[in-house]
Amino acid sequence: MRYVIFGKTGLKVSELGFGGIPLIRLNDELAVKVLRRAYEKGVTLYDTANMYLDSEEKIGKAFSDMRDKVVIASKSIRRDAAGMAEHIEKSLRRLKTDYIDLYQLHQVSEEKDWNAIMAPGGAMEALLEARDKGKIRYIGVTSHSLVMALKLVKTDLFSTIQFPFNFIEIAAKEELHKIAKERHLGILAMKPFAGGMIDNAAIAFKFLRQHADVIPIPGFDSVEAVDQVASFYQSENAVTPCDIDIMDRYRTELGKQFCRRCEYCQPCPNGVLITPAMGYRVIALRMSPDVAVKFSSVVMESVLKCDRCGVCLEKCPYNLPIPDMLNTHYDLYKQHRQGLPTR
Ligand code: SF4
Ligand code: SF4
Repeated sequence: MRYVIFGKTGLKVSELGFGGIPLIRLNDELAVKVLRRAYEKGVTLYDTANMYLDSEEKIGKAFSDMRDKVVIASKSIRRDAAGMAEHIEKSLRRLKTDYIDLYQLHQVSEEKDWNAIMAPGGAMEALLEARDKGKIRYIGVTSHSLVMALKLVKTDLFSTIQFPFNFIEIAAKEELHKIAKERHLGILAMKPFAGGMIDNAAIAFKFLRQHADVIPIPGFDSVEAVDQVASFYQSENAVTPCDIDIMDRYRTELGKQFCRRCEYCQPCPNGVLITPAMGYRVIALRMSPDVAVKFSSVVMESVLKCDRCGVCLEKCPYNLPIPDMLNTHYDLYKQHRQGLPTR
């Protein structure tokens, strides 16, 4: 494991971080075990969020007796000062600490959010006050929109930016990472597996490790998963021409528009199982059409309940045309079900 300077925070952190979402699936004992294992393997940066249910509490349980050995990042979705101040206090309590290294504005992907944050009485006021009082050390931001992320890094208000990055979603590489580095921001890479679309961990991390200043924060839900990913960081592990071919195949399979399985669009008021249905094409490619039909029938039949109400469209951070995409997946499923040849 190498250690890098985390942008203008000046903090020294491991080149691999830990994403806190999967902790919510684990009981306290296992969560603490997994977190401690990550620390033993050299991971010193832990990212969580106010909205990840009890993830902060579990990180607090794991590290409150060794607070100075780890760097903790959390975040809040609140856009108003009072709400942000309340969330910071909540995070401090749950994390059992009197300071949080990095506190991020969570998921700033639209202008209206940014305007609310910066307005009088907006969340930025509370963040600055908390920083002045030493409750948080640095302010960061996370986004799913490249346009917004570019705007945010140029404000020079943030010490870090968190944005999706993996060998399929490489849009950030050219412009965002370049500008962030020029302005000395620390860079966190969310979605190292493209929301579950990449099932080859070895190649996913080989790719990410080529980008030394970009710190991936995969989620871990077992000691074995920690051991596996940490093993990729124990030796030099160069990308080979064969790896490049495999990455190209993934990109071709998924196309330009694909669902990252973030589940922000759910629940659908009509009961459409959006996320699994959006993965049908890839499942059919990786399995066989007949197995995919058998495996996905409940999910795919739920697509028929879509009345194009548009509720999901407003919630998808990637602006995917969800009802149209669901129809395409359903048509493919129907062809497979009828045993028809597909394109
Ligand atoms: S557009 Fe369809 S899938 Fe989206 S929320 Fe409405 S009914 Fe559900
Ligand atoms: S459709 Fe959009 S919001 Fe829903 S899971 Fe996929 S990427 Fe996320």
